[in-house]
Amino acid sequence: MAYIEPAPIKDKENPFESMMSRFDTAAQHLGLDESVYNVLKAPVKQVIVNLPVTMDDGTIKVFEGYRVIHSSILGPSKGGIRYDMQVNLDEVKALAAWMTWKCAVVDIPYGGAKGGIRCNPRQMSTGEIERLTRAYTKQLLEIFGPDRDIPAPDMGTGPQEMAWLMDEFSRSVGQTTNAVVTGKPLVLGGSLGRTEATGRGVMVSALAAMEKLKINPYQATCAVQGFGNVGSFAALLLEERGVKIVSISDLSGAYYNENGIDINAAIQYRNNNRGSLEGFGGGERLGNADELLELDVDVLVPAALEDVITIRNVENVKAKLIVEGANGPTSFRADNVINDKGIMVVPDILANAGGVTVSYFEWVQNRLGYKWTAERVNRRSDRIMKDAFDRVYKTSLEFKVPMRIAAYIVAIDKVAKTYKFRGGF
Ligand code: GLU
Repeated sequence: MAYIEPAPIKDKENPFESMMSRFDTAAQHLGLDESVYNVLKAPVKQVIVNLPVTMDDGTIKVFEGYRVIHSSILGPSKGGIRYDMQVNLDEVKALAAWMTWKCAVVDIPYGGAKGGIRCNPRQMSTGEIERLTRAYTKQLLEIFGPDRDIPAPDMGTGPQEMAWLMDEFSRSVGQTTNAVVTGKPLVLGGSLGRTEATGRGVMVSALAAMEKLKINPYQATCAVQGFGNVGSFAALLLEERGVKIVSISDLSGAYYNENGIDINAAIQYRNNNRGSLEGFGGGERLGNADELLELDVDVLVPAALEDVITIRNVENVKAKLIVEGANGPTSFRADNVINDKGIMVVPDILANAGGVTVSYFEWVQNRLGYKWTAERVNRRSDRIMKDAFDRVYKTSLEFKVPMRIAAYIVAIDKVAKTYKFRGGF
């Protein structure tokens, strides 16, 4: 199970506010018509469920769960489910909207959604997590479906949770329905390449941006915040392309090695150490994990949580390029400083879209009843990521806006045009 424990919230910023601020700016550049603006600014459905779960000690604990559908204009809504103590409705709303823009940027036929349960899976047994996942699925049977709303993993969830969700859904509808969820184990119809997909997309978009900035990967240094599924694969794949990863971090702290950290060794260490880098000897430990964000590196990959680059530390960021592996790692108040400093940002809705892209491939394979090779999955997702990068880059030149706003422009334009053709769905 991929799990990154929540770090303390760094800022009072609200992720939905961050999303809306960029959405508003892009809408103004596009001259978006007011009625379409009103349709897109708020989620179409927000569901809050109470989930009673019998704990191993026999007591019943009630958890709060959410599923927010931001939009179904481009197709069935798509987005992960997060198990985390920080989960709240505003966060899930922002994450759902980001999924709409993300799917639109990479041009896949999905709307956006997100779900979450406020819980600490680290303190729960496997049986408790299974009962919680099944309870959540039961409550949302009317929402989920391969042509309606398709969940996937996010922070704190992985293939096992998706397997339980698929099983519970399949039992209820009376037939195996593997296309109801993506990020499943391979034996249940998961796709080859799905596990690495988000990190791979981060690598592809980082290399595309480095080419524009004339940074030679073989001479570049990089720091990666977060060593969960996204951060560790992004680091590994960038290292394979010649980039020197000088710093990595997780909840246990940040590790620095000016000669480059051996990422394979770090992954091995983490896997044998209950998912933590605690005690990792491949680099010196930085006094404060946040120092990683301020290192003098060429490329910074925040791949952990929202709102880690904020007005409090943005002045100290020295990287030339930020590639957002996480959703919402930069608060909107930090945007202007980043732009003034001339830092290029490959925004979350573009940089981490490799995950949902391969989720789409998984869904396509499930519906075809067929399995693609890893080579085919990777080749197609790399092409989608590169095309999306080029589209956003071109838009940023055309509108003379930073890459983040350009990504929103591309996304909102696509959704707005589709909406106009369809009329009010
Ligand atoms: N949770 C991932 C994201 O934020 C993946 C979503 C999906 O595959 O549907 O992009």
